Amino acid sequence: MKPLRRDAPLSEVLERAQAADPRAVARLVSLVEDDSPHLPEIAAALAPHTGRAQILGLTGSPGVGKSTSTSMLVKAFREQGKRVGVLAVDPSSPFSGGALLGDRVRMQDHATDSGVFIRSMASRGHLGGLSWATPQAVRVLDAAGCDLVLVETVGVGQAEVDVASLADTTVVLLAPGMGDGIQAAKAGILEIADIFVVNKADRDGADQVVRDLNGMLRLGGRHSEAGAWRPEIVSTVASTGKGIPDVLEAIEKHRTWMAGGELARRRQRRAAAEIEAIAVKTLRARMGDLHGSKALDTLAAEVVAGEQDPYAAADKLIAGIGASSP
Ligand code: GDP
Repeated sequence: MKPLRRDAPLSEVLERAQAADPRAVARLVSLVEDDSPHLPEIAAALAPHTGRAQILGLTGSPGVGKSTSTSMLVKAFREQGKRVGVLAVDPSSPFSGGALLGDRVRMQDHATDSGVFIRSMASRGHLGGLSWATPQAVRVLDAAGCDLVLVETVGVGQAEVDVASLADTTVVLLAPGMGDGIQAAKAGILEIADIFVVNKADRDGADQVVRDLNGMLRLGGRHSEAGAWRPEIVSTVASTGKGIPDVLEAIEKHRTWMAGGELARRRQRRAAAEIEAIAVKTLRARMGDLHGSKALDTLAAEVVAGEQDPYAAADKLIAGIGASSP
């Protein structure tokens, strides 16, 4: 295939992305990140080709070994002949595209493998963070024929919850010596983890993290209901690859369990969240357009004059936005 030209029309980019041309895939992910006005057209073209990829979320505090584990997992999936997409999302970073995220150097092992697509994404100060952009980037990789899309998220808190809502299976990484036992309870990650990986099992304290996790799981939560999934706990030494086959086994076990109905439910929830995020973004954009508009000025004057209250005025404004929808 000839290299993708800079000025190639969108139709060609879409066609090539579906044929897994890495440059075309990268171009589409960039368009997502840049919030291109062509996104609705791109989404419409990709939609019939999506829904096939298994989406794996991987999250944990900085330094626990996410990028090392990702690299090892990619290697293992490649050995199974799977095509893999990796999206490394850093909600706190202003950098993206080719920027280094964590220690991405290890990922160079896969740089020349055409069966692996790796990309980092940053929120770049988007309103609402990456809640709308990440799922769209996942769609691009899915449509490009990735069997597996691994979404790696840095940080704690909301980002972890976001990754969980995106993924079919959420893997939470912990490591000894990082106060993670306590952090786990705080950040609510017990609720989002389908699989816990206690990495750096070569270090003192790893057994204690496993015991703490088991203790916390015994305390209850969503997983203690009848028929619920009880999170697996796996120990690894990502730097040597020890335990990685156990992670794969746990992922496969979860996938089998999900096939009993939970996968469909999760995907339904995910699509709902996706629509909501896009709708909120669209509304925000239209509200932005309204700022200083005649409609808003008129309503403001009426509120100042006491002719109507701000709640009623806000309702009218929203109704006006709805009416102006395409
Ligand atoms: P990330 O910030 O979560 O992506 O973590 P990295 O994958 O960059 O790993 C952070 C550091 O921990 C690096 O220096 C790794 O070489 C090291 N590391 C990763 N896994 C292990 C492990 O299992 N044992 C030990 N001792 N070090 C590890």
